[in-house]
Amino acid sequence: MKCKICKDKAEIYLRSYNLALCREDFIHFFERKVKRSIEQWKMFTRKEKILVAVSGGKDSLGLLHLLGKLGYDVTGYYINLGIDGYSDVSQNKVKEFSRSSGIMILIEDVRVSWGTGIGDLAKKVRRPPCSLCGMVKRYLMNRAAVEFDAMATGHNQDDETATLLGNLLRWDKGYLARQSPVLKEKRGLKKRVKPLSFITERESAAYALMEGIDYIMEECPLAKGATSLFYKGILNQLEEKMPGTKSRFLKGFLEYQRNHPLIEEEEELVACKRCGSLTTSEVCNFCRLEDKIKS
Ligand code: SF4
Ligand code: ZN
Repeated sequence: MKCKICKDKAEIYLRSYNLALCREDFIHFFERKVKRSIEQWKMFTRKEKILVAVSGGKDSLGLLHLLGKLGYDVTGYYINLGIDGYSDVSQNKVKEFSRSSGIMILIEDVRVSWGTGIGDLAKKVRRPPCSLCGMVKRYLMNRAAVEFDAMATGHNQDDETATLLGNLLRWDKGYLARQSPVLKEKRGLKKRVKPLSFITERESAAYALMEGIDYIMEECPLAKGATSLFYKGILNQLEEKMPGTKSRFLKGFLEYQRNHPLIEEEEELVACKRCGSLTTSEVCNFCRLEDKIKS
């Protein structure tokens, strides 16, 4: 198969575009697509300081690499969640990336303050690991983002469509109202952006490989049985039969949402008595968790 642009040997075939591309033209295609999302959704400018959350995986490291390459002011942020056989490997990938790219990455380790990882902690407090992990990551990221203008994550189109499907199946209006590639700064939370929202998992993996990024290939072992993986499987089956389904599903929703915005019911927020972050109760979930750990 030949590259549609330069007629050299194609390295990748993108079925939903019916497009075969060589390495160089694919990289160009990918970077232009992300740049267009950043501009169309007015995510950020080169004057803003962006904190990019990295996990050591292809999406987040690829995003940090790409934003650095495009000249944005980026810093990485990594949380070691103390997950056996996974976190230390991912931290090494992140450190190696920082060393070779020259991009600074801030590193936090939950075991330093809690003496244990997220898996053990979830058992202790009897919560599903991903829900506890999500809460902890959100809190720590918001705290780390204080000195930045925006917080970027590497969620790709497969992540976003799986989340959308889950939110629709539950008719979760609050989450649906907030599902967007960009969430403006609001109520003490920094602007949140997802520049890879329209990039497929496969495109993201191909970009990381072609750009020589060494990332962790294994999934987090605690993700086993997570409903998001089940939704991804269903969406993959749909995509297989009807190429372009995921993209139409997500873009259609965002278009509808733009014309008929769902209004998020806003609970009253107060400052957490311990840490001062905005919360709906006297003491925020994170501080309550810390109390439980101590007792
Ligand atoms: Fe955390 Fe779950 Fe993601 Fe693992 S899969 S990093 S536990 S949210
Ligand atoms: Zn608190």
